[in-house]
This record gives sequence, C-alpha cells and structure tokens, in this order.
Amino acid sequence: MQRFGTVVPLVSARVLSSREFTYELPEGVEKGAVVSVPFGRSRRRGVVVDVVDAAPVGVRLLPVEGVVDELPPALVDLALWIAEYYGSTPARALELVAPVRRRRRKEQAPPGKRHSLGGEAAPTRLSPAQEAALARIEEAFAAGGGHFLLYGATGSGKTEVYLRAAAAALDRGLGTIVLVPEIALAPQTLGRFRARFGDSVALLHSALTEAERRDERERIARGEARVVVGARSAIFAPMHGLGLICVDEEHDPSYKQESDPRYDARTVAAKRAALEGAVALYGSATPRPESWERLERVELGERLGVRLPPVRVVDLRREAGYPLSAPLLEALGRLADGGGKAILLLNRRGVAPALHCRACGSTFRCPDCDVALVLHREGMLRCHHCGHAEPEPAECPVCRSVELARIGAGTQRLERELAARVPELELIRLDADTVAKPEELAATLRRFREADRAVLLGTQMVAKGHHFAGVALAAVVDADTGLGLPDFRAEERTFQLVTQLAGRSGRDAPGRVLVQTFQPDARPLVLAARHDVPRFLADELARRRELGYPPFRHLVRVLVGGPAEGDPVAVLGELRAGLEGAGGELLGPAPLLRLRGRHRAQLVAKTSEPRRIAARAAQLLAAAAPAMRRAGLTAVVDVDPQSL
Ligand code: ADP
Ligand code: ZN
Ligand code: ZN
Repeated sequence: MQRFGTVVPLVSARVLSSREFTYELPEGVEKGAVVSVPFGRSRRRGVVVDVVDAAPVGVRLLPVEGVVDELPPALVDLALWIAEYYGSTPARALELVAPVRRRRRKEQAPPGKRHSLGGEAAPTRLSPAQEAALARIEEAFAAGGGHFLLYGATGSGKTEVYLRAAAAALDRGLGTIVLVPEIALAPQTLGRFRARFGDSVALLHSALTEAERRDERERIARGEARVVVGARSAIFAPMHGLGLICVDEEHDPSYKQESDPRYDARTVAAKRAALEGAVALYGSATPRPESWERLERVELGERLGVRLPPVRVVDLRREAGYPLSAPLLEALGRLADGGGKAILLLNRRGVAPALHCRACGSTFRCPDCDVALVLHREGMLRCHHCGHAEPEPAECPVCRSVELARIGAGTQRLERELAARVPELELIRLDADTVAKPEELAATLRRFREADRAVLLGTQMVAKGHHFAGVALAAVVDADTGLGLPDFRAEERTFQLVTQLAGRSGRDAPGRVLVQTFQPDARPLVLAARHDVPRFLADELARRRELGYPPFRHLVRVLVGGPAEGDPVAVLGELRAGLEGAGGELLGPAPLLRLRGRHRAQLVAKTSEPRRIAARAAQLLAAAAPAMRRAGLTAVVDVDPQSL
C-alpha cells in the first residue's frame, strides 16, 4: 500500500517555515526520517513528522527523493513542542535536531581524546548521601522517569553521582546526556566521564569542526557512544534509548539560547525526559529558585573532606584602596610569601567603566547606544554593546576642561595594580578581551592549573565550575557590580556568583574568601558569606510569590526596536491594548537603553499561560508586520526570558 508522509521542509523564512506538505514515501521511511524532497523549483531537506495512510484528495503528490538521515522520533515531537512553546516555527525548531550533514572528506580521530582533561579514579565507597541519591534515581529508572534537583555544595560529590547514575542507566541499556553550561567546562567533565566509560563517551558542542560534529552524531546515532557530554545544543543529541539527562550547574543562565528558537535547554531537558521516560537530574550548589520550588530535592550536603572556606565581607566604606583593599592585599601578600593561588573576580572589562568630566559632569557615551564608554588600556574608549571605539580624548568636548576622571575599575586596571603591588605573583587575566576562542580559554586555564604562585583574575568566567587545586584565596573585588541591575534576578545572580566563587577556594586545603562591597548589609552578600543557600532561596521565593515572578508565574517579554525614538513604545502600547484580557498582568511598555543606534522598548507579561500570551502577541505582531517593516521596526517575543 502506498504510504504518505507529512513533511516539514527546512526553510527558514517565517512565512514558509510553518507549513507542512504531504509527499509519497518510499518503503520503510518512518517518522524522524530526514529526506530530500522536491520543493518549488528546487530540492530541500525536510523532516517526516507524521506518516499517514490517506493523502489529501485532488492534489498530485510528489515522491520523496531520498533519505539523508534518521532521527529518533521523539526528537521530532520535541522540536514541534519547542516551536509551539517558544513561539518559533516547526522548520526552525527542526533545524536544531536535524542540522545539515556535511559530506565526509577524510577519516579523523574522535575529538574526545583531544578535548579531554585528565580524569580521576573512582572513589572506593560512596558517601551515605550519595548512596541515598543513587537509590532514589534507580527507583525513578524503574518507575519510568522523574525530575530531581541534586543539591550539594561545590565538591560534595555531584559529579560522582552523575557518573554512577550514568553507569546504572547503561546497565539498563540506556544512554545518558550530560549538559555543561559552557564549552570551557566540557574538557573537565569529559575527562571524568572518559576515565569511567572510555570511547563510548561522545563530545558535542559548537566549537567542534563540522566534520567532528558529524562523526560524533553518527557514533551516537549508531549506538556506539552511549554517553554524550556537551553544551546547550547537546540536548538534541540523536540518541536512541535515552535514560538519563544530567544538567550540571543548572543555575547558569547560559542554558538559554538568545536567538530564535529562544529555547532554554533546562526546560527542553525536562520535556525530552518526559517524552522518553528518562530521568532528569539538575545539579547545583546554588540552585535556581525555580528548581528549589518545583523539583524533588536530593541533597548531598557539605563538601567532602575539607569544609567550605570562611567568607569575610570587606566594607569598602571603611577600607581605602579600592580595587585592592588592605585585607585583600594582605591575603595576596601571604600567597606571594608562602605560595598558593588566588582567583579574583571583577565583572567588568577594561581599565575604567566610565570617563567623567570633573568640571561639567558629562560622561562619555557611545554615540549609538545609551551606555558609558569603557576606557581600555591602549588609550581607547570602547562600547561594550556595539564595539564602537574612539581614542581617549585629552579634553572634555562639552566644556574643554582637561580634568577628566576615570570612574571605577575594570580587569585591566586591577591587573596593573596587582603587577605593581604583588610582583611576585604570576598574573593570568581571563575576560572576553584575552580569550576570543575556546582554545585560548583552555590554554589560559591550563596555565593557571600548572602555576604554583599565581592570580587568575577576570570577569564571571573565573567563577564557573572549574576545578583547580591549590586555590588558597578567592575574592570578589566588587560585589556591587551586579546588584544594581534592573532585573528581578539581580540578587539571585549576585548570590550565585559569590557562592560559586567561594566554592573555587580551598577545595583541597583550607582557603579564604574575601568579598569587597559598599553594601555589606545586602541580603545576597550576607547570606552568601554564611553559605546559607536554603535561607536565601526561601526569602527569594517568598518575594517572588508576592510579586508574581517565576516560578509562580511565567514571564513573556516582547521587545521592539527601531530607528525612530517614539515608535517602539507606541507599537508596544498598541500591543498591550490587544493583549488586555488574554490572561496576564502587563508591565510597560518601558523604554530601554538605545543599542546600536536603535531605540528599544519592552513589554513584559506575568502569566500562568505563557503560550497563550506568546501566541496572541505573535498574531498581533504578524498583523502589524507590513507597517512595522516600513518603519524599520523589529520585534522579538521571548518566553521565559532569563534577563530583563
Ligand atoms: P561536585 O561535582 O559536587 O563538585 P565531585 O563529584 O567532583 O563534586 O567530587 C569532589 C571530589 O571528591 C572529587 O575529587 C571526587 O573524586 C571526590 N569524591 C566524590 N565522591 C567521593 C567519595 N564517595 N569518596 C571519596 N571521594 C569522593
Ligand atoms: Zn566637561
Ligand atoms: Zn555602542
């Protein structure tokens, strides 16, 4: 009997990419097949999303021309769900699970070895908390799935639980996906998994060459690789028989993709686990309030062996010397004398975050964005949003005064002061100016790992889950940087950053932590200094419940940008009128900073029905599209945004 397939051609234009077409299927082609089909006057790749017995009447159907790939059918359902939930299109979402396959040119070694750091021997015995965690996970395997928060301090043995859970999944013939928030963290995790599972571990992230990615995908699809380690996109690994998804450092905002489809890999992991009856395990020392509230908690407790280091809050209102206060200099001096390593976090690049005229008070701003220009070492003022650069002026263009003041400190100034004050310590700077490529980042981390008397200084990159031995001091140079941001997650982010940085110190020997701030009484700092994660989360959840923020309601954010000043607010004002009564509390429209010469504004909805609001907004924006295009306006609908 002739069979027919509903096929979504992989075209990116929005008007076409929501459409499905019916084709005649050759024998044996099933849902999940990636096929080549005649489309208009050309040929396209497409994905078979459904197989049907009867074709629509009255149309002449064309046959599928060939099969180029096969996906696990569950990935088709996952992609279609993403398209709907995040307001994208089926074709764009299917591109995530069916990336273009390059033709093979030459054989090459799997990237696993090359990209992996050394592993560790398995501990002889699990701790009682680890045993209990595993027992719970085994139970969930038997019950056909579950979602858990694996909560435990840095070094409490979470990775060991992922490893054992992956082994337990393998015993049942099931595969595992392990997500890390950043490519830079993959080598360390890969090393741990390769030490346990050898070549059956595949690596998947966007910094691999296309050929490497294709080879790894094939090893996964063929069932040769049963464990996949990777960044965000590895959640789409074409693995059959998935049993376990581990999301490491689950609090990290990098899990959200900031371009269409604007998916969140953590939410997608939950959906994929549910579709395939797998166990999803979210691990962190500083979980998101969302996970704390919603997930069944499996606790590992304190760090194994050494205790968490004491944290000292340095009150910058009383201590002179910013960015290097006396207590910080003293701690660094101790390392200079006795050896050891330090990690210093300053979440700002450049020499000074702003240049300011003392006479008339003007600040130097980017001509295209409403933000202060940052002074960089080579005497340039740079915009950190659009890349605009101009030489540092000798005088104020407004009043001609030469009294120009550099406000605040960035990593370059910190580096210079450290060189002057503690010349004995090797300085290794880590920020977007020193590492443009993943290889450079890996090389920088290696240098620090191998040094014995060094300071790693940099932006939030230094606080991520890297494991280094011999770190005797961790310091937050300016804990106020993130607190002032107009985002309801500002406190959560600051708490996570400080707690995570503290976790980098004293993993193998007693360490110290210093937090410099002008706001020593700020709740996130006080609680981070006490390592009081449960209290912070309880307070945070109470506040969010009251204000109707996630996890109690979802947010949907609509962002409009355009060349004329009043337009974005005006468009969003009309949108707001259209969304009234669609089931949400609407905030705004509020103007935002101008970026790259474009005026912007946003409208935020708090809602229990994000899909409904997002769909309604998309509908209204589609109706307004011709007029918006003429006015040069663009719009983005972001479901569950991770920053506001
Ligand atoms: P986390 O992922 O929570 O930071 P890890 O799993 O990396 O913790 O464990 C921290 C350190 O303790 C690692 O060096 C690991 O090998 C070791 N470790 C983990 N579990 C045990 C155990 N049961 N007994 C002894 N050492 C352990
Ligand atoms: Zn001036
Ligand atoms: Zn700019």
